[in-house]
Amino acid sequence: MKADVVVVGGGAVGLIAAKTLAENGLETILVEEHEEIGKPEHCAGLFSIINFRRLGIPFSERYIENKVRGAVFYSPRGRRIELDAGRTVAIVTSRSSLDCFLAEEFERRGGSIILNDKVIEICFSGNHTEVKTRKGIVVKAKKVVNAEGVASFLLRKTLKKTTERRMWIPIIQLWVRDHSLDPEYVYLYFEEYLPEFFAYFIPVNDEVGKLGVASRTKLKTKLDKFIKERFPDVQVMRSVSHAVYTGRPLKPDLDSTFIPIGDVAGHVKASTGGGVIMGGLIAKNICEMIALEIMGESESTGYRRRNVESLLRELDRIAIAMKFLRSLPTKTIDKLFKIIDESSLVSEFSQKADMDFQFTSFIKILTKPQNISKLLLASITGSLETSLLKVAP
Ligand SMILES: Cc1cc2nc3c(=O)[nH]c(=O)nc-3n(C[C@H](O)[C@H](O)[C@H](O)COP(=O)(O)OP(=O)(O)OC[C@H]3O[C@@H](n4cnc5c(N)ncnc54)[C@H](O)[C@@H]3O)c2cc1C
Repeated sequence: MKADVVVVGGGAVGLIAAKTLAENGLETILVEEHEEIGKPEHCAGLFSIINFRRLGIPFSERYIENKVRGAVFYSPRGRRIELDAGRTVAIVTSRSSLDCFLAEEFERRGGSIILNDKVIEICFSGNHTEVKTRKGIVVKAKKVVNAEGVASFLLRKTLKKTTERRMWIPIIQLWVRDHSLDPEYVYLYFEEYLPEFFAYFIPVNDEVGKLGVASRTKLKTKLDKFIKERFPDVQVMRSVSHAVYTGRPLKPDLDSTFIPIGDVAGHVKASTGGGVIMGGLIAKNICEMIALEIMGESESTGYRRRNVESLLRELDRIAIAMKFLRSLPTKTIDKLFKIIDESSLVSEFSQKADMDFQFTSFIKILTKPQNISKLLLASITGSLETSLLKVAP
């Protein structure tokens, strides 16, 4: 078989890449090892509306399950902060339905999908690359886009590198019913016994929701503890085990014939493990760049290259900031919650913080002179209160 580009992996980022390539007139073949697109579903499917729109995916009731307007954060010692944007800011989707929707969009533009077969080898020869599958299919292509996800088998074999393995954290996500929370918010729990990653609850409606707990150690025990303490009355409907990435992104060589994208390349926000929007935006830019190159317009790729660099820089900064925040003791995290809560910055965060460009938007808010003084005042008041309590009889 022949194609302009082969995409390995039919997860969200692989499908966004494939759809972009087909949209730009390239003959594209996507190979997915599972029998069906979208299964198994290992995602909470929460996306900010503003950045989801930038992916160019039409909004559809076929995959949107719920719409949310804010988030509620619980500190390790029980402080509660509510961010309310006052309007719908994010969608909760069924990832399985979204992936099927993307696959249809890809096929409608002339793309082909090979299911139930696994890419096992990439051979480079002269001006083309051969992609070999387990069932013996060989595709000659000009470029290979590797979106194999956490597996990293081809990345290791072909480029002899991977993401930071110790920064992948095992996670269990449950679909539960009979919660009693407001479905217009998502809920994040920073528990003392879960120092590596917050636990979350993302409502699908006023009955059902997705609950996730991640930990490198004793995951099942910690999940049970979390449910017992926070959601004692829910009924578990189904569950999935996977891993979320919390490390720094790989910087792919954009001129190579084999380009890793999505989770396999760590194109994920280290704060939340979310990789569909940022990974998808990087993939979209890379694939538009590939299309220009194959059409002989390499000199027009500068804008996309700069976009990729800037997205990777944002992910890198989030990863570095998270490494620092995760190293802080519980007491300090709790203090930070208190300072933010009492600095009257909550409404500004609600309105202006960007769920994806977290580093840039947070720094923009935190470095405004009037906000620096609010934060200083809140921290001084907090310290004074603590000192007074200490000396009080
Ligand atoms: C519990 C959980 C909750 C999450 N919630 C969110 C969220 O709310 N928002 C968000 O943005 N992100 C979320 N994420 C992250 C998100 O799911 C990933 O970033 C996203 O799925 C990455 O897409 P991908 O295409 O790179 O990889 P994947 O979706 O993992 O897809 C990789 C695909 O490649 C296939 N494959 C692997 N090797 C081969 C091969 N050799 N040949 C053929 N096929 C192959 C696999 O079968 C798989 O289908 C969550 C992750 C987890 C685990």
